[in-house]
Amino acid sequence: MTLPSYDQPMGENMAYKISDKCIACGTCKPECPVEAISEGTPYKIDSEKCVDCGACASVCPVEAIAQA
Ligand code: SF4
Ligand code: SF4
Repeated sequence: MTLPSYDQPMGENMAYKISDKCIACGTCKPECPVEAISEGTPYKIDSEKCVDCGACASVCPVEAIAQA
């Protein structure tokens, strides 16, 4: 088990990230309560806005979203 690092600014250390597996289906975007997801190939999560809720990751059909 890795201990969390506390030397990073709050909000940047535990955001979710979208990988290259993203097929740009758009399913995740409306699920985000803080509109942190923007369209693109791949889609992008704004780590400043992401509140780490996990809603997007649970709906992605190709499991492109993971905690980073
Ligand atoms: S984890 Fe939650 S807040 Fe962060 S991008 Fe996904 S849906 Fe939005
Ligand atoms: S749900 Fe997954 S595949 Fe679809 S746009 Fe979001 S990250 Fe990409």
